[in-house]
Amino acid sequence: MGIDRDFKQTRKIVEEKEGYTIWGPVSPPAQHGIHGTKVAVDFDICIGDGVCIDVCPVEVFEWLETPGHPASEKKADPVRETDCVFCNACETECPVEAIAINADN
Ligand code: SF4
Repeated sequence: MGIDRDFKQTRKIVEEKEGYTIWGPVSPPAQHGIHGTKVAVDFDICIGDGVCIDVCPVEVFEWLETPGHPASEKKADPVRETDCVFCNACETECPVEAIAINADN
């Protein structure tokens, strides 16, 4: 099962980072929530594959270490989601459907 595309209705904002938002619930180290809104990455699904980082033409993502997380110990963090050109490459390529791209968010 991939990211919940209705996360804006089903989840609450728990943190406003510079340039993007984190949607809860968050309870480290096992639960990190969804990072980003236009480029939304479900950290609790992400396996740290890295294909999103490889295919993104505008370097939206940066690795974030998540030691102790059961799915992977690093995640693709959409720190520059405002640079996204909505090509959908990351969403299409993600092997676990952890990413939802939505220009209208
Ligand atoms: S949709 Fe395209 S531009 Fe936006 S984060 Fe994904 S790969 Fe990068």
